[in-house]
Amino acid sequence: MANLKTKVLLTGGAGYIGSHTAKLLTKHGYEVIIIDSLFPSQSKKFYGNFYKLDLAEEEKVLEVLRKEKPEIVLHFAAFISVPESIEKPFLYYENNVGNTIKLLSAMKKVGIKNFIFSSSAAVYGIPDIIPVPETAELKPINPYGETKVMVEKILRDMARVKEINYVSLRYFNVAGADPEGELGPTYKQPTHLIIRALKVAKGEIPYLEIYGTDYPTPDGTCIRDYIHVMDLAEAHILAMEYLLSKRENLVLNCGYGRGFSVREVVSTVKKVTGVDFKVIETSRRPGDPPILIADNTKIKEILKWRPKYNSLEDIIKDTWQWELKQNEN
Ligand code: UDP
Repeated sequence: MANLKTKVLLTGGAGYIGSHTAKLLTKHGYEVIIIDSLFPSQSKKFYGNFYKLDLAEEEKVLEVLRKEKPEIVLHFAAFISVPESIEKPFLYYENNVGNTIKLLSAMKKVGIKNFIFSSSAAVYGIPDIIPVPETAELKPINPYGETKVMVEKILRDMARVKEINYVSLRYFNVAGADPEGELGPTYKQPTHLIIRALKVAKGEIPYLEIYGTDYPTPDGTCIRDYIHVMDLAEAHILAMEYLLSKRENLVLNCGYGRGFSVREVVSTVKKVTGVDFKVIETSRRPGDPPILIADNTKIKEILKWRPKYNSLEDIIKDTWQWELKQNEN
């Protein structure tokens, strides 16, 4: 049973995954505190007590932790674009690794030991086994994935000497929006496939590029495991409750264990929106593994995670509803 007064601090709680998790935490009766720089994306709606702060502002973060004394920190704040990480590697190491170290250091000073980390399937690079289990070798092929491996190593080593208790959630391709229509993806310049395709359907972007049609997959385009953001939010709550009651460290894949190609996503977006938009096949984008599908046996067994939104069509429908609402103002 969850302690209804448990105080939870979310970095990046106004961002895409953080805002959905904050809403679900609030529904479950948790007290939510948010630290967010409101860059590069933001939700217009916040669930919880909000502090506008960048994690680089170490002293101010420390002040908030001292004042609020949360029992656990959920660390969402990070840069998330694979192509951008290739263009601007230092920016990614500085924010995703450097600022995480600052946060961990502030937590140590205040004596907060429980931590949920937003990791990524990008840690696997091009996996040898599909679906990929958590035990697979970590061999990222882009700086974004490297930053996630680095933080996981820091957490593993700190946990070994009991400096921290943590769950690292390795997200596969997160998509979808709050089915109640309050929250959704808020990126100013989205790079992700589903959102870009929907913006093309809406006429905000002139055409969709398919990056590479010569991959070793049945239709030549990359395959990904798309997971609904609400199922991911639920995984955070289960992970948190597990950590707080058992104090055992975990590394878990968050995906459905099935994949869709870029072409399959494009045809589902056309079907859901009813718009036959323009698609251009171009060359491969650097840093993209051909296939990423989660082996989710562990999260289902240990956390009893039972996804409720496992349908590509529903993921796209919820995101489409959200996109359409953004024009209403
Ligand atoms: N993709 C694409 N066109 C786009 C955006 C993405 O063909 O406009 C492809 C991309 O190359 C990858 C897949 O869609 O194979 C998923 O990319 P996304 O950026 O959504 O997520 P990632 O897997 O990089 O985290």
